[in-house]
Amino acid sequence: MNKKLHPEIIKHFHSTTFMTPIIGVTGGKGGVGKSTVAVNLAAAFVAQGRRVALIDADVDAPNDSILLGIPLENPEPVTIMQPIFDPEKCTDCRKCVKACQLNSLFRPQAKTINLMGECNGCEACYLVCPEGAISRGSHSVGTLYKTERGKLTLYTGALQPGLAESALVVNAVRDAAFAEADQFDIILVDTAPGTHCNVISALKGADHVLAVTEPTPLGSHDLELILSLLEMFAMQRSVVINRSDLPGKKEKVEQAARASSAPIAGEIKLDKDLLAGYLQGTPVLIFCRIHRQQRFSWIWLTI
Ligand code: SF4
Ligand code: SF4
Repeated sequence: MNKKLHPEIIKHFHSTTFMTPIIGVTGGKGGVGKSTVAVNLAAAFVAQGRRVALIDADVDAPNDSILLGIPLENPEPVTIMQPIFDPEKCTDCRKCVKACQLNSLFRPQAKTINLMGECNGCEACYLVCPEGAISRGSHSVGTLYKTERGKLTLYTGALQPGLAESALVVNAVRDAAFAEADQFDIILVDTAPGTHCNVISALKGADHVLAVTEPTPLGSHDLELILSLLEMFAMQRSVVINRSDLPGKKEKVEQAARASSAPIAGEIKLDKDLLAGYLQGTPVLIFCRIHRQQRFSWIWLTI
């Protein structure tokens, strides 16, 4: 995976229009406790008096609101352009059919263009139509939510079930938070698991990325993949080992971290307070404030 990207791409990837630091929380694998780290880190910053924006960019399965025990509020639809055809103006040139890279446009009979299949709102058909026979309709692909509680603002992106346009929703939730970046002392981005483009889109502009993993063979394997991706985009990175006292292969995780020049920012041991917080939908910091706060603050101090 480790190929060099053009310096201009890296520069563009890292550019933002504001000064607020952005910390990404990611993980090559699902179920390693990435969201638990993100919400507890957010709670730790709030406990220090900082204004925090937490972006839940795992748009297929956003769950930070559940872990925080707060509802999703202020819904706003995320829409994309969807073509509307006017048979009166259509001259049957079929340029739109040829322009659609998803092959979603069909002409069952003269002057009739039907959209059958996926449409990502690219507008190619609209732009090539020489007759103005296509107008811009809109189609909802997901919902943005903004929930404010004291110094914490949670931005959540939720993809409409069954749709594939997750990248659009990731960009929309990131842009919504970035537009208000000056109101915050820190922005945390909780990405989807994996190494696909949505993870990279969510991490755009991040000053540092925490890769959360666990000491299992799958954990160290997927950690190598995500670290390699972060390296490709020249992102500052460190590793958080969750459930570090599992009788697993912690040395493999440490090896992968060393190979990628990523320090271990923190280790979180299995404990009953974390589990209880998880079961109650309450960050462990709120559930068991004092020594837990030190634990998550320590991650921040390390990066
Ligand atoms: S907007 Fe793009 S994807 Fe949708 S029908 Fe037109 S060309 Fe195809
Ligand atoms: S590009 Fe416009 S005029 Fe040509 S077939 Fe499509 S809708 Fe009709």
